[in-house]
Amino acid sequence: MVSRPEFSARHFGPGSSDGGTPVVLVWRDQWLVVRRGVEVIHTLRAVEVEPAARGFNNAQLALQWTIDDDRHMVVLDSAAAAAFREVSPPALQHRLQPVAAVQRRTERRFRWGIALLAVLALLPVAALGLVLAFADPLAGWVVDRIPPSVEARIGESVLAQTRAQGKLITAGPAHEALQTIGRRLAGPEESLQFFVADRPEVNAFAAPGGIVVVNGGLLSLADSAEEVAGVLAHEIAHVELRHGLRQMVKSAGIRVLLSLAAGDYGQLAGWGAQLSELKFSRDAEREADSRGLSRLVGAEIDPSGLGRFFAKLESVEGAGGALPAVLSTHPATEERKAALEAALVQLPPVAVRPLGIEWPAVRAALESPRP
Ligand SMILES: [Zn+2]
Repeated sequence: MVSRPEFSARHFGPGSSDGGTPVVLVWRDQWLVVRRGVEVIHTLRAVEVEPAARGFNNAQLALQWTIDDDRHMVVLDSAAAAAFREVSPPALQHRLQPVAAVQRRTERRFRWGIALLAVLALLPVAALGLVLAFADPLAGWVVDRIPPSVEARIGESVLAQTRAQGKLITAGPAHEALQTIGRRLAGPEESLQFFVADRPEVNAFAAPGGIVVVNGGLLSLADSAEEVAGVLAHEIAHVELRHGLRQMVKSAGIRVLLSLAAGDYGQLAGWGAQLSELKFSRDAEREADSRGLSRLVGAEIDPSGLGRFFAKLESVEGAGGALPAVLSTHPATEERKAALEAALVQLPPVAVRPLGIEWPAVRAALESPRP
């Protein structure tokens, strides 16, 4: 008997949970079998499924199909996708090739960009000055070419750095609350990860690759899950729009890019340390607010939470408390507040599903001493 390779994936369809239901995919000749545990939930012909690149920068593979007007989708991460492609029958394989080509093209563009930068680095200082005058568009150009695999590596080193700096809370009400909010906010194709850091400063940040870190201090200050969701949606928008990467590239300069090109990720941990202190431009903040708002609406979360939380931060500041860290990187300017309020007013009436998290219990857990 020949054992068939099995692939882990997440299934999205009627009744599946927010983050998708874990399933296993197996090929039986021309048939794709989707299994949940030992139970077979779908058996599909190769020609029935529609492949597409998904996730942050198309790193993941999605297979979609329709049964009785219900849309179904399974999502494989990038590693599983490559192996899956190899054993797929020809009927699907030739349709998977364009998806793989998109991913290869991103990688190739990145290598070309690095090669050009290497040449620039060899230029005399005077010419380099000219290059630096164009630092902003240059950083944008480079950032557009950073492939998801590099983005993920940066995220990993940021997470390692965060762990080294202090404890993460990985169980209990605060951890669970954050996972619930995160699952609702993340799109089916997004592999976002949410962590609570056991730190008192009121702060949160998101790293490339979709790693979101929230300090216990921020959760304690909030009065509801919706307020926290507002902050998270804003932070996720910074990742989506690659604001952090852009700042890193701009401040790190060509030298670090070259070590990146050589596969040396050691320096990235250093950048990660600064990530929670990175200050974005006004335009970037406005963009993240508006993108964050759309995400909240899409997730059916009350979008007024973000504005409420910022008002609260300001009152903490006004009452003589130290400036909350999150405000030093995300100034709650009049302009920003006005734009946020205007956007809220313009929103059509939206469906809202409460997150249903008992926030006093989350706070109490954060205030009780931990071992
Ligand atoms: Zn921001």
